[in-house]
Amino acid sequence: MQNMPPRPTTYRLRLPGPTPVPERVQQAIARPLVNHRGPEAHDLFAEVEKRAKPIFGTANDILLFAGSGTAVMEASLANILAPGERVLVALNGQFGERFKAIAESMGTIVDGVECEWGEAPDPAAIRQRLARHDYRAVCVVHNESATGAVADLAAIGKVVADSPALLVVDSVSGLGGIEMRQDDWQVDILLSASQKALMCPPGLGLVSVGAKAWRVVERSDGIPRFFWDFRKAKAAIDKAETAFTPPLSLIAGLREALRMIDEEGLANVQARHRRLAAALRAGGEALGLPIFTAAAARRSDTVSVFHVPEGLEGGAIVRHMYEHHHTVIAGARNRLSGRVIRIGTMGAVGEGDILTDLLHLEATLRALDRPVARGAGVAAAAAILADG
Ligand SMILES: *Cc1c(COP(=O)(O)O)cnc(C)c1O
Repeated sequence: MQNMPPRPTTYRLRLPGPTPVPERVQQAIARPLVNHRGPEAHDLFAEVEKRAKPIFGTANDILLFAGSGTAVMEASLANILAPGERVLVALNGQFGERFKAIAESMGTIVDGVECEWGEAPDPAAIRQRLARHDYRAVCVVHNESATGAVADLAAIGKVVADSPALLVVDSVSGLGGIEMRQDDWQVDILLSASQKALMCPPGLGLVSVGAKAWRVVERSDGIPRFFWDFRKAKAAIDKAETAFTPPLSLIAGLREALRMIDEEGLANVQARHRRLAAALRAGGEALGLPIFTAAAARRSDTVSVFHVPEGLEGGAIVRHMYEHHHTVIAGARNRLSGRVIRIGTMGAVGEGDILTDLLHLEATLRALDRPVARGAGVAAAAAILADG
């Protein structure tokens, strides 16, 4: 380790999750604990519910669980599946594959709707599959963090609503940053997590369950569940409680983050994500990094994914950004490894973050012997930001 530069004591966390936690949220997390069955906790849960519902676009209860995003992916499936049942999964990226692996671990029969990584799932292909078999669930990733493609949930929701299947959606990296209308889009189970656009540390999973899904959750012949039992969570939230001792500090942080979103205005928050992502994509392209996400009309506003040019290794860019600029971006930990880099525009992100990313990216590309026009990335981004 002799040749390693010293590690920075602070650095710019520019991942597609976890994302930087605003100071207000940090302070809320640091406050003294309250009795989890006392009046302060009732107020906390009630306020989180009230403020979270519009972000989900739902009138459903919001169930909270200690765990990462994957925990609530698993919990959502464990509450509706039984071994031997059929599940359909849209396979257009890493997190669709995770849904598939989880469903398989439960002894279900999993069919995939395959599509190129970088594309959004095709609603017509899902309709065809639903006509062929009875599925218990259709699993779709709203915002595929590995590829930057956003699913057309309005169209997919219509297709699934015409069948007995339940639409289960992972919006871990979308919720809060991009539009979500669970009830209008007929999403039966929507799950998310605290550490992305919701600006909190990892550790909190959020789930909203619609009426069609509750009828399945409530059956008694499904997969055994206890801590993760949505019925227990629902009975508790009806009393503004949680079934078991919840991660109170994280929930206090989430309340503060939700207050920040309300102060800015949800529509303004999403417009900010859209504008910053457009600026970052334009800047990256100007630096000679083509956008990976093939679905041009369905590109994410929370994560930008760029092709790494021939002759370069994604890992080399990520490493150089960290070691020389203290900027932490992501590569890929899947079949795209080495071929893409990913930068988050989710949560507490502003113009300065994007411009600094591009400045560092330009210096990094030059240091790695890529010819880049001086200032091109920042100029392209600034032109978009100047348009408002
Ligand atoms: C981050 C993420 C998850 C959750 O991952 P965890 O590490 O379990 O929190 C799930 N789905 C998507 C699309 C994600 O971006």
